[in-house]
Amino acid sequence: MKVFISSDIEGTAGIVDWEQVRGPGTEYELGRQLLTDEVNAAIDGAVESGASHILVNDAHRTMYNLRPGDLHHHASYLSGRHKPLYMMEGLDATFDAVFMVAYHGAIGAERAILSHTSNPAAIWEARLNGVAVGESALNALVALEHRVPVVLITGDDATAEEARPFMPEIEAVVVKRSITRFAAESLHPGRACELIRAGAARALAGAGAAPPPAIDLPATLEVTFLTADMAEMATRVRGVQRTAPRTVATTDDDPLRLYRTFVTIVALTRSVVER
Ligand SMILES: [Zn+2]
Repeated sequence: MKVFISSDIEGTAGIVDWEQVRGPGTEYELGRQLLTDEVNAAIDGAVESGASHILVNDAHRTMYNLRPGDLHHHASYLSGRHKPLYMMEGLDATFDAVFMVAYHGAIGAERAILSHTSNPAAIWEARLNGVAVGESALNALVALEHRVPVVLITGDDATAEEARPFMPEIEAVVVKRSITRFAAESLHPGRACELIRAGAARALAGAGAAPPPAIDLPATLEVTFLTADMAEMATRVRGVQRTAPRTVATTDDDPLRLYRTFVTIVALTRSVVER
């Protein structure tokens, strides 16, 4: 069995601040260690349930947050910049299951630690088929393309909630309870890892019967930006229409093409972010 792990970082137990997820600095070094432990716990659980190959795609910021030598020796490590499929690079139809580890809530969530959707300086809200979504549902488009079920997500309570509309049977391991965008009550890291390991083992054991993400096609993606200029920029991508001063929409029957449109929009609008 092959398992694909997309690892972010904001959903790691104990992490509550940007300083812990952005280097350089001692807080970041702590953050990446906590993340590595959680990713390894997910791999342990997968191996327990029979995984023979595990690919970890580092999906946060620089996309080289894990220390290769500290990663579980059963896993290969896909890291670095400019990956065409971004947080889902490396997934194909040969995989049996997707895990999303240390994910976080969407920018519009009421209480979600370090909430954002891809780029907090550009995206105010993303909606898929009319439902406000975070990165989990957007990334699930790639899993849908390859008909691979997303069976595990870890993070705070908001992350778990957001995943359910499109992945109703997902195993969600909640390692912290968000109070505000910068405060949360976390489990002890050791306890979080125990729960992730058990959750991963359960999730993979049930993967054979799990359906791919429940996203109706053709799917409509709407993105509302912080500024109108960003929406204008996004319409330069083929198939993307302006529906309001700060909102664009696109509809596609091909989930991979829709995901690529989203990734292109995110990349393009970075050029009009004010610094
Ligand atoms: Zn991140």
